[in-house]
Amino acid sequence: MKNVDYIVVGDGYAGLFLAHQLIKNNKSFVIFSEGRKSASQISAGIINPVVLKKFTTFWKAQEQIDFLKTSLKEIESYTGENYLINAPIHRIFHDENEQNLWLKKSGNEELSAFLDKKFDRLNGVKNDFQTGKVNQSARLNVNGFFSGLFNYLEKNDHLVKERFDYTKLNPSESVYKDFSFKNIIFCEGMGVKDNPYFSETAVIPNKGHHIKVKLSQPIPEDITIKKKHFLFPTGNGLYFYGGTYDRDQLHHHIDDSAVTQLINGLSEFYPYDFEVKEVHFGFRPTVKDRRPIIGRHETLNNLYVFNGMGARGILNGCYFSRDLFNFIENDIPLHEEVSSKRFQ
Ligand SMILES: Cc1cc2nc3c(=O)[nH]c(=O)nc-3n(C[C@H](O)[C@H](O)[C@H](O)COP(=O)(O)OP(=O)(O)OC[C@H]3O[C@@H](n4cnc5c(N)ncnc54)[C@H](O)[C@@H]3O)c2cc1C
Repeated sequence: MKNVDYIVVGDGYAGLFLAHQLIKNNKSFVIFSEGRKSASQISAGIINPVVLKKFTTFWKAQEQIDFLKTSLKEIESYTGENYLINAPIHRIFHDENEQNLWLKKSGNEELSAFLDKKFDRLNGVKNDFQTGKVNQSARLNVNGFFSGLFNYLEKNDHLVKERFDYTKLNPSESVYKDFSFKNIIFCEGMGVKDNPYFSETAVIPNKGHHIKVKLSQPIPEDITIKKKHFLFPTGNGLYFYGGTYDRDQLHHHIDDSAVTQLINGLSEFYPYDFEVKEVHFGFRPTVKDRRPIIGRHETLNNLYVFNGMGARGILNGCYFSRDLFNFIENDIPLHEEVSSKRFQ
């Protein structure tokens, strides 16, 4: 029997940022990965403190950004690489009204640190009304983050490459196959619906597509462009463009309508030829109140859920993994806003 402090089920942002908390606090653990491409691996990797529809911000945005940057430095100390890409978002304005709204909002206390007052004109794309820069925004090197952490976890015998079989779990004995554990944390994204212990978790799937394109004419490489969707280089001669949002088309294959939406969206501001090279999709685990769902099972005290990362898996996964760790290890109560109790 292998004794571990923690079993973690799921290898997306929730699972891996939690693993970082366990590494940082010298806890013994294994993480189950079924080897599928998670929504996290499909994600754009955008780190953004501003909701770019109406130029608003969200709860704890500054704290989350600061904590992420600290955490990525800590992860660098054992993976050897910092996965932060300092390529700020430049939001293309649709019209003068948007320019005025941006300037007005940049005077608000909660937004002044994020909305740059100086507008920029970009080469290579259509931006008649210029662009606004989102200060402190950046990207995560998604491929680097996942391959770097998977390598570390595998080398240190933390990674179990198999699907966690719920029928083999004996929660009252704290035993799973040949593992005995103190705590088990489920970080399955939309996969939680197949988990008999937490299938009632109130997450709603939101399907997102992105395309990888080959551009015929160059665009600025050191920034992230945003109009309807995000456009940026992925470092292999291709560019990421996406992602879409869809609560209805929830089947597990590509929607041509989403691809058309992306091609039209890119054509709106990129006036040159481009070629679609790849199409990918994934399911965001969203929540009605846009806050994660974190907590302990109602009757089985050492079973936990960490889900509902929504459209901000990086910031939510990183920030609230610490809150969950402190809740389990140091009895520090969870914020009511993220506690699973709010749905019980
Ligand atoms: C197109 C798109 C673009 C996005 N862009 C961004 C962005 O720019 N920035 C941002 O912060 N967020 C973004 N997101 C949102 C982000 O991807 C999600 O919030 C995040 O993926 C949720 O992470 P998770 O770890 O909860 O779930 P997931 O990423 O879904 O990971 C859960 C993992 O658990 C595994 N699993 C499930 N059940 C089991 C089991 N029984 N045994 C073993 N493994 C299991 C699954 O295979 C999966 O790999 C985007 C999402 C999409 C779809």
